[in-house]
Amino acid sequence: KRLILIGPPGSGKGTQSPLIKDEYCLCHLATGDMLRAAVAAKTPLGIKAKEAMDKKGFILDGFPRTVTQAQKLDEMLAKQGANVDKVLNFAIDDAILEERITGRWIHPASGRTYHTKFAPPKAPGIDDVTGEPLIQRRDDTAEVLKSRLEAFHRQTEPVIDYYSKKGLVANLPAEKPPKEVTVEVQKALS
Ligand code: ADP
Ligand code: ADP
Repeated sequence: KRLILIGPPGSGKGTQSPLIKDEYCLCHLATGDMLRAAVAAKTPLGIKAKEAMDKKGFILDGFPRTVTQAQKLDEMLAKQGANVDKVLNFAIDDAILEERITGRWIHPASGRTYHTKFAPPKAPGIDDVTGEPLIQRRDDTAEVLKSRLEAFHRQTEPVIDYYSKKGLVANLPAEKPPKEVTVEVQKALS
């Protein structure tokens, strides 16, 4: 399956994607960095990402971020006789996101995500699996969140409309607890 996760920063995409990946054996491409390189298809990394995508299903999280990127992705897939199968829309009220973002802690090497209140690590500031330190992203502040949300509403929400017209969007109640969101993801993909 070729899946796209869309939602504002803090809506839970990174939390759900490893679970989806495990269950469906997909290749998780975070933030879209690799894919942007692939669309450019000029760097060795880009070519590698493109080869991987040609063979397998994928989960895209952070891409496409604009309707133009979505159109480019569709063109690229169409050349291979492929298409996007499903778009999971992490629907959530902006008001909930500040607490999610400012409490987020990340294990950079694995991408594992914790939250001081909603998903605390066993020891504060320490990754459960490796014992390595957790970090906070520099842009995970209330102030920067405002501009990221503004960009999301302006540029990325139209991508949801774009895929809705193709009948591909499943809306998830992303404000629910993580386990309940996982159940909704499973329903959407079954
Ligand atoms: P995104 O990848 O969409 O930016 P994350 O998955 O990193 O979002 O989640 C943002 C923060 O909120 C993290 O600290 C995460 O642990 C926490 N979180 C994720 N999903 C939920 C949820 N359903 N309820 C409460 N907190 C959540
Ligand atoms: P966020 O958690 O805000 O969604 P990401 O971690 O996905 O951000 O990406 C970090 C930054 O990289 C974004 O704020 C944006 O400036 C840039 N970026 C990520 N994906 C894309 C994309 N598909 N197109 C353009 N810029 C992007």
